Amino acid sequence: KAWPQSDGVTYEELQKILLTTPDAAKARDWSKYYTSGPHLAGKNLSQAIWTKERWQEFGVSNTLIVDYDVYVNYPIGHRLALYEKDKQSKKDNTVGGENKDTWSVKYEAVLEEDVLDEDGTSGLSDRIPTFHGYSASGNVTAPYVFVNYGTYKDFEELLAANVSLSGKIALIKYGGIFRGLKVKRAQELGMIGAVIYSDPGDDGKVTEHNGNETYPKGPAREPSSVQRGSTQFLSVSPGDPTTPGYPSKPGVPREPVDGSIPSIPSIPISYLDALPLLKALNGHGPNVSSFNKFWQGGGLGYKGVDYNIGPSPDGLLLNLVNEQEYVITPMWNVIGIINGSMSDEVVILGNHRDAWIAGGAGDPNSGSAAFNEVIRSFGKALKAGWKPLRTIVFASWDGEEYGLIGSTEWVEEYLPWLQKATVAYLNVDVGTVGPYFTAAGAPLLNKALIEAANLVQSPNQTVANQTVGDTWNKHIRTMGSGSDFTAFQDYAGIPCVDMGFQSGPDTAVYHYHSNYDSFDWMDKFGDPGFHYHATIAKVWAILAAKLIETPVIQLNATDYAKGLAAYLESVKVKARATPGFYVDEQAHWSKGSLFHGLDRAIDQLYNVSVTFDATAQALTDTIEKDPIPWWKWWEKVKLYYAVRRVNLKYKMLERQFLYKPGLDGRSWFKHVVFAPGLWTGYAGATFPGLVESIEKGDRVNAFKWAGICKGLIEKAAGLLEE
Ligand code: GLU
Ligand code: CA
Ligand code: ZN
Ligand code: ZN
Repeated sequence: KAWPQSDGVTYEELQKILLTTPDAAKARDWSKYYTSGPHLAGKNLSQAIWTKERWQEFGVSNTLIVDYDVYVNYPIGHRLALYEKDKQSKKDNTVGGENKDTWSVKYEAVLEEDVLDEDGTSGLSDRIPTFHGYSASGNVTAPYVFVNYGTYKDFEELLAANVSLSGKIALIKYGGIFRGLKVKRAQELGMIGAVIYSDPGDDGKVTEHNGNETYPKGPAREPSSVQRGSTQFLSVSPGDPTTPGYPSKPGVPREPVDGSIPSIPSIPISYLDALPLLKALNGHGPNVSSFNKFWQGGGLGYKGVDYNIGPSPDGLLLNLVNEQEYVITPMWNVIGIINGSMSDEVVILGNHRDAWIAGGAGDPNSGSAAFNEVIRSFGKALKAGWKPLRTIVFASWDGEEYGLIGSTEWVEEYLPWLQKATVAYLNVDVGTVGPYFTAAGAPLLNKALIEAANLVQSPNQTVANQTVGDTWNKHIRTMGSGSDFTAFQDYAGIPCVDMGFQSGPDTAVYHYHSNYDSFDWMDKFGDPGFHYHATIAKVWAILAAKLIETPVIQLNATDYAKGLAAYLESVKVKARATPGFYVDEQAHWSKGSLFHGLDRAIDQLYNVSVTFDATAQALTDTIEKDPIPWWKWWEKVKLYYAVRRVNLKYKMLERQFLYKPGLDGRSWFKHVVFAPGLWTGYAGATFPGLVESIEKGDRVNAFKWAGICKGLIEKAAGLLEE
């Protein structure tokens, strides 16, 4: 053989093992285990140990638990009540007392999800209350305002219409952007509390209003369901908010938290609890239909909600109480390692284990169940004598839900090694809650991801033999945030993929972060038969194998250059559309142009990438043809070093886009091409430094960022060229 690609098991044999081993019934068993009781971040040690023991049994003997001491909150108490001023003010009952307003409770929110006979974990005595991660304790009483999704733009429109926000409580719909950024903007505008509810208008076609039964009888949203979740300001920095940039090891110094978590209290509620609040706004303040046509679409019209913005009228006040206990407590990552022949070429696979609720059958344990099948499959290959070419690391993260904590602290701890050795990180958070394959990824991995999806049969065989790739539109989103790839991609400069099967507008409503993201929901509605669990395991394993086993690393530089060109086009469109931001079109070919230098640098990267990928392909072809006879050993040595050189460059390419000082106002984020959008969180921004300067109308800063990006793109081209 021209290449020591594997010992014991060939690549073809390995692929066969990975495509035939993952088993739906086994995945169902793992799911049942993980979702049988609470496993909140920092409160799941038994599941960490169990996971470690399974992986060892599967054959990954080198599996250990790595822990961090993390600053987090746990819920103590909460209250939400609507107070109404009594019509007739009652006399103060002290002698000679004056007239005083008296208030009565008009509505006391339940703040609890219904216990359902058909849903085994909904009634556990130790079930987890509804609350927000990293929310502030507080007790506030004030008028309230309906602020739609609470996006930056929504708030801008309210301000433009002179709706008074300061001193009020925000009533916000879930959806669109990361919840913590809704609270962030409300806080910045002087609002003193936030209540976020799930509106069935965002549930697609499968609603009660459209004639569907609600869970557990049918696929529509259970009306009492509540979306818990973190309100960390994740576009500022993820991880333990007291240790930005370094690991939360016991005894480390801790920084004050202001700026990365809220200072105003917030709570999540169901639409049942939101109804009386929304209805009480009927007739008060602008109605959404006249205010902004895009604000329509609220799904509670049939329940008598007119969707007025408010503020709530005189004589109506909302009392919001949020009581949180903040502690520093251990969290546990499970790390399994299979050493390959190349110790300095590493591929990492990860999924988080912690969930907001006892269940978590979708988020994250559909991923965890599939992960066990991935590892069991690789273990089978190990037992057949396989030794991988590259080193594989498996990671079961804790603390993802509060702010990607387990993964971020681990990346911060092992940064030098990770940056030296890591080829790619492959994340699966929600493995499946529906039939639609979706993925986000760094462009370097586009080709490998599509090829992997094309190798795996879809559970949907309405067309015989169709693959996951056939059912997928091949759209790959840019890397944003909201899951454990963030520190790898944005802090360490490691190309990432994040993928899974999602629900859609025509499938059962996924009760995200609610008690009803449970085993029983999954078994009946999410993935009956657990075939999508087995399928995501196969895609994940096949993609990993491609990156682990092929002699020339399966990254594609040309796709990166193409991606950059497309991202820059969107920045140009943005710049031209930004009022007051002057784009000197005439100066396109001169030094005065913002984009000229960048255009040229991207062209240069494109050209060297095409050549580089062709060189890499030629090496692959040579190895596959195996034309070198054994006695020409020196030619084999030459080939070996040629491949190692190409691989080193592929491995280091993504790293070239890191800028040490980081992005403006959020220096933890080091990548100049990818970051979570400042005001979206989940959705990615491309060329964030440049785009944010343009949005602010800051030409000088825009030129600064254009220069930084151009320099790094040229550096990347230089790496491939030399
Ligand atoms: N997946 C978590 C969520 O969307 C991430 C939390 C975070 O990034 O802070 O709530
Ligand atoms: Ca840290
Ligand atoms: Zn998750
Ligand atoms: Zn989650």
